[in-house]
Parts: sequence; structure tokens; C-alpha cells
Amino acid sequence: PSLPQEMTLGPASAERVVLVVYRNVRALKEAEELKDQFISLATHELRTPVTIIAGYADRLLSRAAQEKGHALDEWQREKVQQMKHASWHLANLTGELLDVTRMQAGQFQLERRPTDLVALTRQEIERLQATTDKHQLAFHTTVAQLWALVDAFRIEQILSNLLSNAIKYSPGGGLIEVTLEEHKDTHEAHFRIRDQGMGIPHAQQAHLFGRFVRGENVRIAGIRGTGLGLYLCRELIERHGGHISFESEEGVGSTFFFSLPCTEAVYRNSSGKAL
Ligand code: ADP
Repeated sequence: PSLPQEMTLGPASAERVVLVVYRNVRALKEAEELKDQFISLATHELRTPVTIIAGYADRLLSRAAQEKGHALDEWQREKVQQMKHASWHLANLTGELLDVTRMQAGQFQLERRPTDLVALTRQEIERLQATTDKHQLAFHTTVAQLWALVDAFRIEQILSNLLSNAIKYSPGGGLIEVTLEEHKDTHEAHFRIRDQGMGIPHAQQAHLFGRFVRGENVRIAGIRGTGLGLYLCRELIERHGGHISFESEEGVGSTFFFSLPCTEAVYRNSSGKAL
């Protein structure tokens, strides 16, 4: 039996196939661009109001604690706490989505300044320690200061992501150890964040830095997340000229490693001025 006309690959039909494929690819590209534009617009529009709500929830709690005549009763305090948590969660989520769309559109830039990584890491550990009683965060470093030319806000974001993952995915609590070392030979700062949590299943390990990738075990356990944090960490670290990796065993724990270049020039210009 002869093939239907559109399936015979004569010269004219081959052109038609190419045209159909081309049209499909173009339609897909357009859909992809539209989706990116939508995410970008939606996150821009969401970010401002959600940050205002989160900020006022914070303000309400601190005013209630500090100023006479503004105390909240137990029920009110609990509800405002929940509002604060939910709104900061949403603010972080929109921030992550905005970063991803900016990176993909080539509109993302680092604002590098000489920064002491030791002080910044200690500050971030203290901030996250205050969010949990079940976990003990320990900091080991052999240097008093370690200067690097980095975007401090972004390094905070990386540490915050990795430390909050270590907390979130150690639901039983436990020790979380952060180590920061200077490798003088390569002019690099080496970070290590080790937890005793759920670990990452082997099946997901190879793709873990992809967008929206999450471990099977954390999905089953019902722990919420977007799967964007590690994607952003890798992008941010590599844009700084560093490298990220991890080792993990399910049921035992995970260790994340990352490096950042500390140029010699920064040692000489550690006055705090942008180079
Ligand atoms: P999210 O935490 O929002 O899901 P991430 O990109 O930060 O997104 O992490 C991706 C996935 O990697 C997580 O869903 C989890 O499965 C796994 N993961 C990351 N850090 C840890 C950790 N410290 N322990 C166990 N699993 C982890």
C-alpha cells in the first residue's frame, strides 16, 4: 500500500516537513517567551505588595513587644506570627522567581564589593540559629578575616539557602557544621556545610542543581519547597567564579561544598571601597 502523500519524503514533502517542524519550534519558542514574560510580570507585581505585608507584620510584632499600650494578646500574636511567616515565604519565592527570570533574560548583575566572608558567614549563622531550637549551628574557621570581592547580598542568599535547607531537611534536629577555610595557594575561600538530615536519594543527585528538581524523599515527607534554591546557588557561585558540589547519603546526611575566589587585590584594598 502506498503511503499517504504527506508521509512520502519526496523533495516537496521534505520541505513541508521542515516547514511544519519550523513552525512548531517557533510556536514553542513563542510560548516559552510568553511564559517567561508572564512569570516576570507576575513576580514584579507580587513582590512589592507582599514585601509591604511582610514588613508590616514584622513592625506590628516588634512594636507590640517594645511599646507600651500596643501589646497583642496571645491569639493576636500567634496570628501575626503566621502572617509574617507566610508573607516572608511568599516574598522569598517571588524573589527567587524574579532572579531566575532575570538570569535567563541576561539581565542579572552582581554588585561586587570587598567583603569579609568570616563576618558575613557568622552573621548569617546567628540569624538562622535564632529560627530554630532543635538544631545547633556551629562555625569553624581558622582565619579571623577573609576578604573577597563579592556581591555580599548574594553570598548571604547562598548561605541562607544552604543553611535553611540543612535545617529544613533535618526535621529531627541535630548538628549543622559550617566550615570556612582559606586556600592560600589557589586564593580561594572554601565553605562546607554539613548536616545529619534526610540526605538526597541517589536517583536525584545528578540533576539536583536543575530548576524545580526536588528529592523523592522530601516530596514523600511533604516538606514544601520550589526546587529553585540550589539552581540559584550554583548560578550565583559560578557567576562569582566559584564552584559548588555536594556529597550525600540518604538517611545519614548531606555536605555541601563551595568555593569563591579571593583575589590578592582585595587583601590590599580591604578598606570597604568598591574596586
Ligand atoms: P527546595 O528546598 O525549595 O526544594 P532547593 O533547590 O534548595 O529547593 O533544593 C532542591 C532539593 O535538594 C530539595 O528539594 C531537597 O530534595 C534536596 N536538598 C537540598 N539540600 C538538602 C539537604 N541539606 N538535605 C537533604 N536534601 C536536600
